[in-house]
Amino acid sequence: MAIERTFSILKPDATERNLTGAINALIEKAGLRIVAQKRIRMTREQAGTFYAVHKERPFFGELVDFMTSGPVVVQVLEGENAVLKHRDVMGATDPSKAADGTIRKLHAKSIGENSVHGSDAPETAAIEIAQFFSGNEIVG
Ligand code: ATP
Ligand code: MG
Repeated sequence: MAIERTFSILKPDATERNLTGAINALIEKAGLRIVAQKRIRMTREQAGTFYAVHKERPFFGELVDFMTSGPVVVQVLEGENAVLKHRDVMGATDPSKAADGTIRKLHAKSIGENSVHGSDAPETAAIEIAQFFSGNEIVG
């Protein structure tokens, strides 16, 4: 299995509760390496572009409001099968359906304020990484 990269966000509900280190520990324990990381405040334009695939969904406005409501930590994660491995450690979108030991089961507040984002495929990971990082900011 080749080394793969995925894009991760620690969302405002996580930074607000000072959970950056606790979540990073779960990511690293799952065998993923954090090869780029920065704390930013997303603009509405950035959040709208990032979640453009959901723009017709009823929760889109709420999602943009939430993602711009406080700082987020954007990351690039690297490892074997990184996209799936990260989605496994995140758990289901709805924390009430997430498996025990996952980030969302342990920390998410609701289906909207669910602490973390992870890319859903290598192709979307490449697009998402390029939205927030230049090549020389990623050090594997
Ligand atoms: P993400 O893309 O953030 O990693 P995901 O792939 O598990 O999460 P998506 O279906 O892509 O889930 O939804 C993107 C985000 O939109 C969710 O993480 C959540 O923050 C928000 N969201 C999804 N469904 C709902 C909903 N029914 N009500 C409110 N917010 C929602
Ligand atoms: Mg998604």
